[in-house]
Formats: sequence, C-alpha cells, structure tokens
Amino acid sequence: MPLVAVIPNPNAAVEMREIVSPTLELNSALLEVELSEVCGTDVYLQQGRLEGVPYPLIPGHVSVGHLRKIRGEMLDVDGRTFKEGDRVTFLDVHRTCNACWYCLVARASTRCPHRKVYGITYGLADGLCGGWSQEIYLKPGTRCIRLDATPEQFMAGGCALPTALHAVERAEVKIGDVVLVLGSGPVGINAIIMAWMSGASRVLCIGAPQARLDSALKAGAAAVLNIETTDEQQRLSWVLEQTSGRGADVTIEATGAPVAVAQAMRFTRDAGRVVIVGQYTDHGPMPESAAFNPHLDLNKKHLDVRGCWGSDFSHFYRAAQIVSEPARSGPWSTMQLARYDLSQANEALEDVAAGRVLKALIDPRGVAA
Ligand SMILES: [Zn+2]
Ligand SMILES: [Zn+2]
Repeated sequence: MPLVAVIPNPNAAVEMREIVSPTLELNSALLEVELSEVCGTDVYLQQGRLEGVPYPLIPGHVSVGHLRKIRGEMLDVDGRTFKEGDRVTFLDVHRTCNACWYCLVARASTRCPHRKVYGITYGLADGLCGGWSQEIYLKPGTRCIRLDATPEQFMAGGCALPTALHAVERAEVKIGDVVLVLGSGPVGINAIIMAWMSGASRVLCIGAPQARLDSALKAGAAAVLNIETTDEQQRLSWVLEQTSGRGADVTIEATGAPVAVAQAMRFTRDAGRVVIVGQYTDHGPMPESAAFNPHLDLNKKHLDVRGCWGSDFSHFYRAAQIVSEPARSGPWSTMQLARYDLSQANEALEDVAAGRVLKALIDPRGVAA
C-alpha cells in the first residue's frame, strides 16, 4: 500500500494516508516516484485559491520515477515501447482531446476544456494521480518521456522549466535582444536561462529576495535589481540605464503580482513584446492607483502583450532534452535544491510560501510504508 500526502480540504494541513494500489487498465502503468516537487501552485492549492480543484487531492504535478509495472503497451513519441524499469517523466496534462475547437481550430491545446492535470485537477477520487506519493498511476493516454538526466537535474527545472520555455517561445526572443525578466522565483530563473539560450545579448532581472537574485546571476542574468529596496520609478530608471534609454526589447513577467503587469509594459521599449506568465493564480485586478494607462502604456507604445497559459507536450519534451544534454545542462546544476520526505510536506509548503527555498523537492523514498 503506497503512502501518499494529501491536502484534505482548502486551508487544511497535509495528511499522510495509505492508498490501495490500483488495478491497471490496459495500456497504463504504475510509476515508482523518485522525486516530485512543491511549487507556488501547490501553495495556492493548499490555500484553496485555484478553481476546479477536487479536494481531497494528492499534489505534485511534475515528477520523475521508474516504471514499475506496465499493463499492455506504452509508446514514446518515437514509437519505441517503454519497459518496466525505465526512468521517465510524464506530461502532467492528460486528456487534451485533439477534437475540440481550441485543439483543432485555434491550435491552442492548453485551452482545451477537457484537459486534466495530475496533482491539480485530478483528485484522490481519481486514484494515485499526484506526485507526493510513493506511486503514481499513469492512466492510459498519459504521455511519458524517457529521461537520460538524473532526477535531480530534471527536477531542478521541474514544472517551472516547461512554463518558462513556453513563455520564451511566446516572446519570440531575437538574437541580440535585451530581455527583462520580472520575478526571481523558479519560473523567472528558468526564463533567464531560456532567454539566454534563445540568443539574448543580456538578460536583466528584477526580483527578491537577495538569495534568489544571486541565483539569477548564477543562471546567467547580466544584472539584477532588488524590488524590496526600489520603487517603480527607480526600477524604470535602472532599466532605461541598461538599455540606452529605450527599455527592454522583450519583458517576461513571472511574479504573481498584478501590479507587475503594468510595470512590465512600462519597462519595455516602444514596439517591444511583453509576455505575462506569472498570473496563473487569480490575484485580482491591478490596484486602481497602479492600473495601466491604455494610451501611454499600450497603444502609443505600439506594444505586443501576450498571455501564456500552461504548457503542452512540446514544451515538456524540449525541457527534458535540454536538461539531458551535458553541453546545455550547466545552469540547472547550480540551482539549490531543498529536499523533503512525505511527512515534511507541510514544512515544504511553508518554506516555498515564504520564499526561503528556491526549489523544494519531495522525495517519497525516505519514508517506509
Ligand atoms: Zn480539446
Ligand atoms: Zn508547478
């Protein structure tokens, strides 16, 4: 009987439970979890701030492990069969229908109304569908990716890497661009790495606290500014100083603070691009005093502002390839990882909420069943 960590209700502490292992359906598998993670989304799940979440649930949307049992056949995108014992990760998004208007006409599969996400919109009633568990049930149709990287190497990017990769793809960074990243959490740090790899000449980062800005510098940021010791005007002056008075060519907002969206627009040069990826949870509208001015901040600037929601298989696949490539994986090896076992999930949530750790990992191997 695998041990799991469960959020029973919004605002309730995480509990340990024992769950019966499922009977495998045809073309499904059981994953023995090596590592899962705690990200900002899990903090909001615990606080009940996401819509459409079926409590109780086992959190943990991105995980790595070994395929312990396979029933039937599971294939990778190259048509090769997975074998028991293979180390894999899997796309947390399941049941994208490839039949609805968003999938087929808009070609925006992250807006497919049928998609379910392991650890977020699959609850305990759906089975072992989260990574804070010794085992995950990979339902038929789950897209697995063979992993050559170590679990630590892949999880250093974790769910933030495909998210950041998607944002940088939306940003269409051109060779030589100056890219500004707002936010120095996991998505911000991964956006710095991705922007750099996409050909940015310099990547700037505005965030906090100082420890995370140090991580931003290690990840490749050319210059950083602490949000705790500056006001908006000082931040704008700093960006202008760094960009010959024009503003960033591209700004990626990864903060979670509504007010940062207006600032992202103001810190970007005329005819530049802004990608908003940090508002995955609803934090409400911008405060009246800081709301953007449609004439000054958008129309007159001839600005291109794009939202970026979730990620699809392509982002996940590319993330797995890039961290597995020794010539490319360097930036993730510098990332500081904090490790917790299943019984320490509440502590992990508190540390992530307080920004005390950059990347919190759940290692369910530490606790005996
Ligand atoms: Zn669809
Ligand atoms: Zn996440």
